[in-house]
Amino acid sequence: MAARKRGRGQDDNSGWFFPCGLWAGALLLALVLCVALAGNLSAARADDSDKFLKKRFQMVDNQIKDRGIVDLETLRAMASVPRHLFVPDYLRRQAYVDGPLPIGHGQTISQPYIVAYMTEILQIKPQHRVLEIGTGSGYQAAVLAELTDRVYTMEIIPELAEAAGKRLKETGYTSVNIRQGDGYHGWSEAAPFDAIMVTAAAEFIPPPLLKQLKEGGRMIIPVGSPFYVQHLMLVEKHQGKITTRSMMPVRFVPFRRSQ
Ligand code: SAH
Repeated sequence: MAARKRGRGQDDNSGWFFPCGLWAGALLLALVLCVALAGNLSAARADDSDKFLKKRFQMVDNQIKDRGIVDLETLRAMASVPRHLFVPDYLRRQAYVDGPLPIGHGQTISQPYIVAYMTEILQIKPQHRVLEIGTGSGYQAAVLAELTDRVYTMEIIPELAEAAGKRLKETGYTSVNIRQGDGYHGWSEAAPFDAIMVTAAAEFIPPPLLKQLKEGGRMIIPVGSPFYVQHLMLVEKHQGKITTRSMMPVRFVPFRRSQ
């Protein structure tokens, strides 16, 4: 009885061990294949990032430095953020061209030069709190996050806000605070801000944003009619007084309002 039991047990065991050996072999083979594939993929990724790095440096030289952006921190930020990871997959190869690109929902990621210009003019220091209205792809927020850990960004389109939040995490910009909602009202809990950047064209400067601007702070905002003439305005607050200066004509997507 005991022998039979043992025998059956042995049979059972060997029956179990044999496929187990096969499984182990298959597993080993799969592992080897995976390692080989991963090796190839990471080699491909390395090639890719090399290619994009070269394009990014050319973008900084030809589109940004040559047009007069001199602030070294802004140039470093523009050279650091992988813009190709902030555009839709099908536009990755065009990520470093000298112009805006569509990001879905009728919105655009701004031209690299405009991103650099708006960043430089805010004179951001590492201790500054910065508010961006119009997260879009999250690219501008990532550029700002290269300069300070205190970036707050708001996006009115839920799908864009969600995608940008995910993208910022994946690309390592984990310090960026993102909120979905109408940026007209600003982000009062995080105010006052040393710098505010609006990346959609408003017909007038939203009063809550003026209120949330710190004494001595700067705001850059495109103002004008949608699809018509707009001006990039530099707004400053000194001793409670607001001054505005028109810096250049621009074309931005319209500032929207929640219903
Ligand atoms: N800065 C973005 C591009 C901005 S496009 C980037 O780097 O990709 C302008 C964005 O502003 C759009 O995504 C649009 O949905 C958003 N927007 C427009 N009106 C807004 C509002 N009232 N509050 C928040 N976001 C707004």
